[in-house]
Amino acid sequence: MLTHNKYPTEHYRALDAAHHLHPFSDTRSLNAGGVRVIVKGEGVWLTDSDGNRILDGMSGLWCVNIGHGRREIAEAVQQQMAEISYYNTFFKTTHPPAVELAALIAEVTPEGFNRVFFCGSGSEANDTILRMARTYWATLGKPSKQVIIARRNAYHGSTVAGASLGGMAPMHAQGGLPIPGIRHIGQPYWFDHGGDLSPAEFGLKAARELEAAIDEIGEDKVAAFIAEPIQGAGGVIIPPDTYWPEVARICRERDILFVSDEVICGFGRLGSWFGAEHFGMKPDLMPVAKGLSSGYLPIGGVLVSDKVAGVIEDTGEFNHGFTYSAHPVCAAAAIANLKVLREEKLVERVRDDIGPYLRERWMKLADHPLVGEARMTGLMGALELVPAKPSHRRFAGDGSIGLRCREHSFRNGLVMRHVHDTMVIAPPFVLSHEEADELIRLATLTLDMTH
Ligand code: PLP
Repeated sequence: MLTHNKYPTEHYRALDAAHHLHPFSDTRSLNAGGVRVIVKGEGVWLTDSDGNRILDGMSGLWCVNIGHGRREIAEAVQQQMAEISYYNTFFKTTHPPAVELAALIAEVTPEGFNRVFFCGSGSEANDTILRMARTYWATLGKPSKQVIIARRNAYHGSTVAGASLGGMAPMHAQGGLPIPGIRHIGQPYWFDHGGDLSPAEFGLKAARELEAAIDEIGEDKVAAFIAEPIQGAGGVIIPPDTYWPEVARICRERDILFVSDEVICGFGRLGSWFGAEHFGMKPDLMPVAKGLSSGYLPIGGVLVSDKVAGVIEDTGEFNHGFTYSAHPVCAAAAIANLKVLREEKLVERVRDDIGPYLRERWMKLADHPLVGEARMTGLMGALELVPAKPSHRRFAGDGSIGLRCREHSFRNGLVMRHVHDTMVIAPPFVLSHEEADELIRLATLTLDMTH
């Protein structure tokens, strides 16, 4: 049992308020409520500095897929630290963790993917995408193919390129984004934008926005289309069944690269190794991060198809890389993580066991008077909070009901996240049936308190 003495809450809160600028936070409201100090993690459970247990329904930030506190990862990291804690793979050097991780990734990627470019995060992976896609076409003698088509409300990271590719209006508003050469089209969000169309009709309509944008810009100017298989930070937006096949047709018929942003969906979250596989898509590039190391240490990468790798290798020098590309200790954590995923068959567990088990119960939350829609694929789920049913009408205001719901949830001992008035979850793959039942009990209690 943790005591106040070991982690004195007020001590941490005061220092935090004085010295720590939090990401994606309004500092005034943050400090008004007092931040919660998280001190321990084990499996799906977190413990705060007052000794409260909280079920981590978000796997940290969609990343701690194998659960918190795994000894295997700690030991692999410690061993690697003792061998060589840092070296790079620039200038004709490599090291065992980089090589072993790259080979291990090639074993789990779809056919035609055998190369990985390492970086430190999902944002860096998407910066790499931008340069790699444009360099690909320039090397092929088509330097005018520069524009990258992305989607509104998509999240592709916080660096300048990542946030520009992303379609988050508040992020664009700060810092004069997006950078030139990026075009945003609509998202396949039937609940919000479907109108009178059936999901199937709307899925086709949303996909054809891509074709219309290519026509308008000119195929000779478009480099790539980037999209998350399921938009995560945008609110777990699961496209209608017709969407991805139509996007696949358009990408096949028009001469553009398809980039599947697998930062959340990659490494098992949808019950397949990659989200693109779940939807039968054949991407050219796949940015990854989060689930690659289950968040134990920061590492990301771009998984590069043979088609693109061959051209990039012909480019001569690809002038791009990071001090921490293939950091040996982070790579060792990722290797240990992939071994856990494989040995414990956790991807299969999401597909055949805990995914369907949780989904069956989660979908019943649609019966709650506050819930207009429940959806879940793999271990990624959302609830749309509405003022009246049946209705797609939203609450007035900008997400205050969702915020209230999230706060009740946290106090009740469950981490759910809100995106305006959409509640989202993405629990670790090791969630047991009993813990899934507890998650549903806490979510129901939270909805009752919010209603
Ligand atoms: N791409 C997607 C789909 C994401 O969800 C995220 C982060 O949430 C990123 C990219 C950026 O990753 P990072 O925060 O590691 O830079």
